[in-house]
Amino acid sequence: EQNLFKTGAKIIERFEENNYEGYFVGGAVRDFTLGRDVSDVDITTNALPDEIENLFEKTIDVGKEHGTIIVLMDDIPFEVTTYRVEGEYTDHRRPDNVYFTQHLTEDLSRRDFTINAMAMTSAMELYDPHNGIKDLNNKLINTVGIAKERFDEDALRMLRAVRFMSQLDFELSLDAQKAIKEHAAALDYVAVERITAELEKLYRGINVKSAKEMIAQTGLLKYMPFFKHIDRDRYVNSAAESLGQEAAVHIYKDSGLKEHLSKLKLSNRQKAEIKASLQVIGALTEQTNEKLIAYRFETDILNSVNDIIRLNELLDTEHIELLEKAVSAQPDLILKNRSDLDINGNSLMSGLNARGGPWLRECLDMIEQEVLLGNLINNEAEIINWVKSHVKNEDGNI
Ligand code: ATP
Ligand code: MG
Repeated sequence: EQNLFKTGAKIIERFEENNYEGYFVGGAVRDFTLGRDVSDVDITTNALPDEIENLFEKTIDVGKEHGTIIVLMDDIPFEVTTYRVEGEYTDHRRPDNVYFTQHLTEDLSRRDFTINAMAMTSAMELYDPHNGIKDLNNKLINTVGIAKERFDEDALRMLRAVRFMSQLDFELSLDAQKAIKEHAAALDYVAVERITAELEKLYRGINVKSAKEMIAQTGLLKYMPFFKHIDRDRYVNSAAESLGQEAAVHIYKDSGLKEHLSKLKLSNRQKAEIKASLQVIGALTEQTNEKLIAYRFETDILNSVNDIIRLNELLDTEHIELLEKAVSAQPDLILKNRSDLDINGNSLMSGLNARGGPWLRECLDMIEQEVLLGNLINNEAEIINWVKSHVKNEDGNI
């Protein structure tokens, strides 16, 4: 991290040697000042995008028209953005135009919150015209300028505000709260993917509870995809460590919510996680054998479900014990997957001298289960004998 700033300082120094300005800016300055881990460091400059490209050997154009170029310094990527002011916002989500400027102060004024509107020199000296440091010390999220205007311009900022509450364990200024109450409906203008991205960060934060309370209290909840269908108290009182867990808890409690899930536009991965979570809960309530549960689901899902169940008291201790037995059974399972079976469709058919058909899959499922449970040895000859003596079709034949 020390290194990140040191390397970033080389970029700033390059600007200065060429009679431009350059500063660290945004989240990196905020998190550094707070003593938090910094994972990426952004830089702002009065150099124009073409000039940035000319000054550095390795650059990637990621949004030149908005002034953003990635500069690679010692193989580390830095987002370098030209000082920018924004034109009018007519759609509550994006400025109609952006303009480059030569003044750092103007760039800082377009930023959302005072704690995100500080700049820092390569010598780590703060430039802080909006008094972000005071809000950092008071653990307060305050907009740059008039809250109502800033949330009206870009409705996503309302959700960013609560996301930072959770991430930093900060309070939200009363002005901002009041403004969100008035503008919550504008969340409708924001692309769902951007809402989802903020929610993910919110759940990874350290004070999820206070952020969720604020979402309910300000009325943002009523404009959130999927969540608007959840009972407010249930939402506030539920506990979850990820967006997927939150969704799974509510769908478990009210299966009618499932039809609204698609509105969150989750990734296939996230959807699969929710589905698997609900399947684990289903398997537990059906009192399936722990080895079968251990075989069917991945450790991560089992642990995640364990968290959801405990935090939300979804199932009783008997089921939690079953889940924990499944987790501890996992390393010693006889099979990890079907290819570990000493038999497959072809060898089974030839061993039995039988033709294929729908029975084959069913038969393999049974073999798999018996081997997993330790009732059958995982050996081709043993398996074929077992099938001969146990499995018959309607005609009494294999
Ligand atoms: P993190 O990277 O930890 O999520 P961050 O503060 O770096 O937090 P980013 O989304 O990376 O957040 O944005 C970088 C900076 O750009 C912010 O610190 C803020 O100054 C500015 N910014 C980002 N989004 C907006 C917005 N919607 N309105 C105004 N300024 C914004
Ligand atoms: Mg950032």
